[in-house]
Amino acid sequence: QVVNYAPFTLLPSPVPQDLFEQAYAVQQDFNLLVDAISQNKEFLEQTLASTIKVDDFTARLFRIYIQVLEEGLAQTVFLGINRSDYMFDCGVGGTATLKQIEINTIAASFGGLTSRTADVHRLVLKVLGKTKEASQLLSNNPSKSLALGIAKAWELYGSQSAVVMFLVEEVQRNIFDQRCVELELWNRNIRVIRKRFRDVFEKGSLDASRRLYIDGQEVAVVYYREGYVPQTYDEQNWEARLLLERSRAVKCPDIATQLAGTKKVQQELSRPGTLEKLLPGRPEAVARVRATFAGLYSLDEGEEGDKIAAAAIADPERFVLKPQREGGGNNLYGEELRQVLEKIKDSPERTSYILMDKIKPQPALNYLLRAHSPLQVSECISELGIFGVYVRQGQQMVMNKAAGHLLRTKATEHADGGVAAGVAVLDTPYPV
Ligand code: ADP
Ligand code: MG
Repeated sequence: QVVNYAPFTLLPSPVPQDLFEQAYAVQQDFNLLVDAISQNKEFLEQTLASTIKVDDFTARLFRIYIQVLEEGLAQTVFLGINRSDYMFDCGVGGTATLKQIEINTIAASFGGLTSRTADVHRLVLKVLGKTKEASQLLSNNPSKSLALGIAKAWELYGSQSAVVMFLVEEVQRNIFDQRCVELELWNRNIRVIRKRFRDVFEKGSLDASRRLYIDGQEVAVVYYREGYVPQTYDEQNWEARLLLERSRAVKCPDIATQLAGTKKVQQELSRPGTLEKLLPGRPEAVARVRATFAGLYSLDEGEEGDKIAAAAIADPERFVLKPQREGGGNNLYGEELRQVLEKIKDSPERTSYILMDKIKPQPALNYLLRAHSPLQVSECISELGIFGVYVRQGQQMVMNKAAGHLLRTKATEHADGGVAAGVAVLDTPYPV
């Protein structure tokens, strides 16, 4: 067993203050939007129809979604914890704009560890004699806000003796991030257990009213920190997932909300008129959300897809090619994008991807500190994430908040990949 420190930048990185505020200001809208999508069967069905024909993983999730709906939902309290990620595009005019990379609706991580990074960077600045600059760093405590959401859902579930279950990986690489949130729950006298899909398969059961039990303990909230990649699931784990989804327990997220976070849904949201349908009577929210969208393009079969595929083959540097996968390291860029698209452009496989305009942020210099890596200055770009948390009981929103931020920074030589993928490191925004 080896324990390493989480990688971080030596110095905080500059973040345009106005864009930082814009990202916070749109978070409640994104919470509402994700929640609305999760309740809209027709939209999910239409949007994912082409994808599930070719993408087995999304298809399997979708099958569980339909099966659970047909049986009738036992769950009445809903908890969303998401993270909307952005980069600052310099574009042509030279003024940076906020562009969304994606929204993560399952297992959005680093809310725990990043609750500590501002302190690290404050200390570094003080050691460097930059006391005034140190005072510019905002405090940030996503673990507390995420725990408040979980605690609210637990309370509304309404059983004092029930526990919160963190559904964790087989091999735990980010346990301390999760422990930060867990400790906040213990501080509120809420019991937390940590289980894997395998444990659920072996020891999980439902009673007649579909209350979930594991090891004889009733589970009020299931907080997934696992379950977003196909490799997680063998047949037994799929069975465990189905059991959890069928249960009355508050799933964070339920399977509909996981589907709402797919890249295909993101791409469909950018179509004219879609946001208006999903957020009726909220034109200001629609405008705030839309302002963050980069160009997104469907590769579905037909003329529209043919055209954009040809454009991307001709000028791959303009685009990113994205499959329906999470967790970093799956996207295709540049020459590789061109080769793959060339190969699949006339096959249905094309529809398992979307295309997105490539965002080009202004690089800044920093040191990326990683265990066992040499110390050297790198040209870096940063990605800002805003955590969102909401709780709904039946049709009533009882909590809807922006829950703190995360800044991740990576060297420009890497096109893709997050902290867990070993590419990005934890950072703190320095407002400019
Ligand atoms: P994942 O679900 O795997 O995290 P993302 O859409 O977040 O997928 O992409 C992974 C990484 O690829 C991002 O963190 C970012 O560094 C890079 N990336 C994604 N989309 C773009 C884009 N449109 N322009 C530039 N970089 C991008
Ligand atoms: Mg991502």
